Amino acid sequence: MEKRPGRSLIGPEEIAAKVAEMARRITEDYRGRDLVVVGILKGAFVFLADLVRRVDLPLEVDFVAVSSYGKDTESSGVVRIVKDLDLDIRGRDVLLVEDIVDTGLTLKYIAEMLRQREPASLEICALLNKPEARKVDIEIRYCGFDVPPVFVVGYGLDYAERYRQLPYVGVLEDGC
Ligand code: 5GP
Repeated sequence: MEKRPGRSLIGPEEIAAKVAEMARRITEDYRGRDLVVVGILKGAFVFLADLVRRVDLPLEVDFVAVSSYGKDTESSGVVRIVKDLDLDIRGRDVLLVEDIVDTGLTLKYIAEMLRQREPASLEICALLNKPEARKVDIEIRYCGFDVPPVFVVGYGLDYAERYRQLPYVGVLEDGC
């Protein structure tokens, strides 16, 4: 049976309000600092694009890409860097932007890798959080929404590379 986005979990207006609130906090916290916003591809690209346009500060943007779930919906726990940063982050204030934190394995791996490059600070910003699925401790400084342990798509998140363009976050369900 083909899987499709079913019911909407978080609508576009709710997302926009949350992104604006997160951006306000980031603007206050990083004033006078040397902010580099690092998005984790591909899932974070929509969230990051909306977020940085609301942050009222000078900043730079870079991306890392890691291997994803492929066509499956289960975390393998295996993380492979497919694209590294272009910028040197040593001594800079890094804000790592992720679409969703599930087991936490992906973020833990990337955060540890980036910390070895000795940034002045490194904080995590995630739009979605699945606390019930967590396998490792992760401190999310800026967290959008807690979601139940279901597979979600839209607003950058895919299923087999589809549905990233949806303006809402929906639950993946069996179609007919
Ligand atoms: P973790 O390593 O925390 O288990 O997984 C993080 C990554 O898994 C996310 O960046 C995302 O790519 C993928 N992921 C986890 N949960 C979901 C989900 O519900 N939907 C989608 N589309 N991807 C997810």
